[in-house]
Amino acid sequence: TIYFVDGQFTDKDGVRISIDDRGYYFGDGVYEVVKVYNGELFTAQEHMARLLESASKVKMAVPYTEQQLIGIAEELMKKNDIDTGHVYMQVTRGASARVHHFPDMNVPPVVTGYAIVNPRPVLNLQEGVAAKTVEDIRWLRCDIKSLNLLGNVMAKQEAHEAGCVEAIFVRDGIVMEGSSSNMFGILNGIVYTHPATNLILNGITRQVVLEICAELDIPVLEKEFTLEELYMMDEFIMTSTTAEVTPVITIDNKKIGSGVPGPITKKLQEAFAKKLPLTVTG
Ligand code: PMP
Repeated sequence: TIYFVDGQFTDKDGVRISIDDRGYYFGDGVYEVVKVYNGELFTAQEHMARLLESASKVKMAVPYTEQQLIGIAEELMKKNDIDTGHVYMQVTRGASARVHHFPDMNVPPVVTGYAIVNPRPVLNLQEGVAAKTVEDIRWLRCDIKSLNLLGNVMAKQEAHEAGCVEAIFVRDGIVMEGSSSNMFGILNGIVYTHPATNLILNGITRQVVLEICAELDIPVLEKEFTLEELYMMDEFIMTSTTAEVTPVITIDNKKIGSGVPGPITKKLQEAFAKKLPLTVTG
């Protein structure tokens, strides 16, 4: 694997990260994952715009423009010869002796990245997955794509131990998002999803799905719904850069609808696949 570290492309032996990196001490940084299909980045501009937005929300200066970040991601993809996979990029507030407050202005942020092979989750897309609800114990700025993922890690582990693919965060009885995905319920032909507030990450895939709904005249309500309402949905899906549009067929061991991927789910999946730079489907 070829990595990007501080302006240079290097193999793993050439990667040098300080033990004083604030990403390591505090999770003081932001990141993005951009999917590669058929040797092409998908929605790279949206991802890099969000990286800069996340950085700005935590008052971190990124030494690259959106276009430069896309260029780095493209280089990583090419140097690693990725056909289907993803590019990971992160920016931390740099290396400095461990004190909580920001380091001096002259401490540069550390920008790192790599690209790896990652096939589409074909089986999950076709058959659907199980999910488990968990209490949302995260902070109140879930709109920031921060490296601080302990709440998400704990939730995913709880789901994993229950034999589930994803954890669904519930805060004060309201369904928020997944530990690494956004959630949509479908009831009587209407698509419901939590509004893009400070309490969820406004996923790029979420935005693509909303765009698809508009194109297909599928009614959408970006509106809170409860855990009780979740169990009553006809269909349920989770979305993310790597999970795409994955049907959720059981939640807390209860079947959603008839327990198989539903018709609107399939319509959304089909429309989503059409947006991808694929030569062949599947
Ligand atoms: N919510 C959370 C908490 C996530 O970590 C992710 C994955 N990045 C998402 C939602 C989905 O975002 P995206 O579609 O941009 O991958």
